[in-house]
Amino acid sequence: MNVVVGVLALQGAFAAHAECLQSVGVTTCEVRTPNDLEKVDALMMPGGESSTMSQLLESSRLFPAISARIADDMSVFGTCAGMILLSTHILDGREDQKSFSAIDISVRRNAFGRQVESFERELDTPIGQFLGVFIRAPRIESIGPGVEVLSSLDGEPVLVRQGNILAASFHPELTGDARLHEYFVSTISTTRKV
Ligand code: GLN
Repeated sequence: MNVVVGVLALQGAFAAHAECLQSVGVTTCEVRTPNDLEKVDALMMPGGESSTMSQLLESSRLFPAISARIADDMSVFGTCAGMILLSTHILDGREDQKSFSAIDISVRRNAFGRQVESFERELDTPIGQFLGVFIRAPRIESIGPGVEVLSSLDGEPVLVRQGNILAASFHPELTGDARLHEYFVSTISTTRKV
């Protein structure tokens, strides 16, 4: 069975993620409903606006559906707002903003500065040097003992993994370099039921 990677397509930078995944030969599926989620083995959660995504996850009824798949060990890669959605604690979040508590990290929204303060930096990662694009990026302020740090920027974690959950505070989909997507795909084991 070929692996199908869903891209959460409620809001934000989902199209570029689908292109990266397709460029490494992966079949993708835009996920907007619980029914879409049933067709995928793994899920990419893009950057965007995490508070808006949190609302849309509720109204689409995807929040409980994704929670159940995470409990069932689905692989998820969250980037920027996607990382915020996967975290255990959100600092400077909107009051009603929810997260999946899928990876034991506390993140502070927008802590790397405003949109105009966006920046790019070469990072050391498990797949070699990778250009990280940081756009109103969240900062990982603390990590639990089960979390592995895969890359740091000036001593602060920016790419982390816990079991099947991978999270980056930067945008790996914007530089035409799909190696981190390829790395994520290499970690996927099938949990699709249909
Ligand atoms: N600041 C955004 C948030 O809190 C994340 C920014 C991004 O995804 N580029 O959701």
